[in-house]
Amino acid sequence: MNGTMHFFNSLGLMALLAIFYGSLLRRRMSKALHKAVMGVLFGGAAAIAVLQPIYIGSGVLVDARNLIVGCACAFFGPLGASATLVITAIARIHAGGVGMPAGLASMVIAYLMGAVWERSVRSRLKGTFVSFLVLGAMISVSLLGTVLLPADLRMKLLTEVGLFSTGFNLLGAVILGSFIERERRHAARESRLSNEAKTDPLTGLLNRRSFQERYERQAQERNRTGSALLVVDLDHFKHVNDANGHDVGDIVLQSVGRLLSETVRQSDVVARIGGEEFVVFLPNTELGNARLLAERIRQNVQGAGVEVDGRQIRVTTSVGGHWHHGIVDLAVALKQADVALYRAKESGRNRVEFSPT
Ligand code: GH3
Ligand code: MG
Ligand code: MG
Repeated sequence: MNGTMHFFNSLGLMALLAIFYGSLLRRRMSKALHKAVMGVLFGGAAAIAVLQPIYIGSGVLVDARNLIVGCACAFFGPLGASATLVITAIARIHAGGVGMPAGLASMVIAYLMGAVWERSVRSRLKGTFVSFLVLGAMISVSLLGTVLLPADLRMKLLTEVGLFSTGFNLLGAVILGSFIERERRHAARESRLSNEAKTDPLTGLLNRRSFQERYERQAQERNRTGSALLVVDLDHFKHVNDANGHDVGDIVLQSVGRLLSETVRQSDVVARIGGEEFVVFLPNTELGNARLLAERIRQNVQGAGVEVDGRQIRVTTSVGGHWHHGIVDLAVALKQADVALYRAKESGRNRVEFSPT
């Protein structure tokens, strides 16, 4: 009974950590840092398990540590789990006793088994129930560490808790694995949905709404020089569609989107805000440089051409720009840039115009 409680306590702790892991996943944090944080927390859980063990004989203790160390390595990789291993080992050394070498050995075996599972089983069985059962079985190989125990204690441990501890490793790996897998799936789904909501599906550029967010966020920051907004509208695009079909038109739009991203600077923001209409926002830019960049965009689009089914399709674009000291309201900037665009179209297209001139 005491043993069952011990393992359920440890399992509850791990389940809580799995939920915490899910909330970490939703934060902007590097994957390596996630894994390191989880490695340390699992180390804490394993240390608690070691410090409240079930005593088999004097100096020999049984607890959930191998399950925790093995799972840490399986789910957070050898690097993250090395923190778990070190913390758990310190706790075990601190607890001392005749079983210490065997305890440390079994811990290392569990760690290695977790690593092997991550490398070979995980990719094949893809987070299924069976894959977690296999993990639990592999972690149970850590019982081999008992060869370092005196013979009488080894027999006592294997007969009294060998089966129990194996069963618990199986159960624990399945419960914890399902928790972690579920958290991963949910976080990945949320991030995919949020990316989809931000981007234009055809070109992968920002859509109008997320462009507005980016613009407004940038407007909060100090703007030393000035900023420009360019509206890039393809010329006679209706003809391109009419002559080549809508699908080919789509390919041209994708190619122009890529070209724009390649032409602008890292700090500039490109978006597709309408059918064949793109915008480029240039923060911290002088008027002269904004004009140069607008001209480069015009030239690149004119020069690029897109090859579809062996045919070379050429498009040109008109660019309307608005430059301002600091940053103005997006609606104002768009309106001014549109005035300039209209002028570019009126003066024959394939041109750059700025407003005010
Ligand atoms: P202008 O030089 O005056 O800009 O002429 P235009 O033909 O480009 O402009 P207009 O606004 O008359 O037509 C825009 C065309 O863009 C109409 C539409 O068929 C096409 N278009 C809009 N969205 C898409 C799209 O997602 N895919 C494709 N292939 N074409 C699109
Ligand atoms: Mg157009
Ligand atoms: Mg248009």
